[in-house]
Amino acid sequence: MSQQSVSTQCLHAGYAPGSGEPRNIPIVQSTTFRYATGEQMGALFDLEASGYFYTRLQNPTNDQVAAKICALEGGSAAMLTSSGQAASFYAIFNIASCGDHVVCSSSIYGGTYNLFAVTMKRMGVQFTFVDPDCTEEQLNAAFRPETRAVFGETIANPALTVLDIEKFARCAHAHGVPLIVDNTFATPVNCRPFAWGADIVTHSTTKYMDGHANAVGGAIVDSGRFDWTKYPQKFPGLCTPDESYHGVTYTQRFGLEGAYITKATAQLMRDLGAAASPQNTYYLNIGLETLPLRMARHCANGQAVAEFLQNHPKTAWVRYPGLRGDPYYALAQKYLPQGCCGVVSFGVKGGREAAGRFMAGLELASIATHVADAKTCVLHPASTTHRQMSDAELAAAGVSPDLVRLSVGIEDVGDILADLERALAQA
Ligand SMILES: *Cc1c(COP(=O)(O)O)cnc(C)c1O
Repeated sequence: MSQQSVSTQCLHAGYAPGSGEPRNIPIVQSTTFRYATGEQMGALFDLEASGYFYTRLQNPTNDQVAAKICALEGGSAAMLTSSGQAASFYAIFNIASCGDHVVCSSSIYGGTYNLFAVTMKRMGVQFTFVDPDCTEEQLNAAFRPETRAVFGETIANPALTVLDIEKFARCAHAHGVPLIVDNTFATPVNCRPFAWGADIVTHSTTKYMDGHANAVGGAIVDSGRFDWTKYPQKFPGLCTPDESYHGVTYTQRFGLEGAYITKATAQLMRDLGAAASPQNTYYLNIGLETLPLRMARHCANGQAVAEFLQNHPKTAWVRYPGLRGDPYYALAQKYLPQGCCGVVSFGVKGGREAAGRFMAGLELASIATHVADAKTCVLHPASTTHRQMSDAELAAAGVSPDLVRLSVGIEDVGDILADLERALAQA
């Protein structure tokens, strides 16, 4: 079959039922799988045969939906995880451990920042955070001999910076390491980072992919293009025998296409166990089927809301990469020509108190610590997630007291704008 478009893949990739088989991906709600002989199962444990034996490692529902996400990103192999956090952790820890170093954009999701700067640091992995807008010279200066990866977000949550993927990929490759991109906000509908040189993509599927706020999940996709075997000293885990798996050398046995994901499954899922639940994966798949329709609507509504807010006398500033004049407009035009996402941030004139009054005046938008789903939701960090901080501390964290983060949903745009107008009148 010729290469299908993303819209078609969202419905059909990863699962092709035979005659008389279920039309929908079945939920295989079984922890384990039966075998006729011990030898058959032994071959699975040795990674000599492929098949299922325990859902922590692999499950048909999870594998079929991982295969769909793999196709959407144009990758060679993929896996699901129980959350986006687990995906970020596995993606790095699969190739960087104690004593290693990672170069990371400073403009990333707060949970990822904490994972890297606090928890992984405790495990002995060092991170250097760089301004995503730095020059190539500055970026190159962040690398060390023990650097094993570079990490950034296509559209950062919540800063809404757009990553110059080509620049980051060029520097990563010049230093013999892969670029890992968290593509959660853009989704493969709006950007496919592999086309711009990224080597590995991660997702919090909790956001637009699921899209209905019903299942936390994550995914890792490998492009299969990074040649680990050129740098065996940097990536011994992929290029030398794994004693915990009977001496398997992942790059030899599974090739560049399969080595990275097989290792992450065989070692990290086996030992750490952040496996997706097949039931949650089923919900994720239902979300994926309509992802292109929803993304188009999120982007159209997000653009309309950003333009409305930009022209409103009660707003101090608006950030949305699709707005002409936004600092990331040019990068968004390059990497996200079909639209960015539905998340818009803005400041309410009058600071913290006015933002509070604005929030109280909303009726349609719900106040929630969530983004990127079908229903419009809104967060005022200074009075919620960041409420312990003084104005000075907020400024250091890049969160101004007047900042409101709006995740524009797929409701009728007239109703969304009317809600904002009513609430701004009370601010
Ligand atoms: C939410 C989010 C994560 C973490 O994902 P969870 O599914 O909540 O664990 C990671 N990266 C980005 C960009 C996110 O928005």
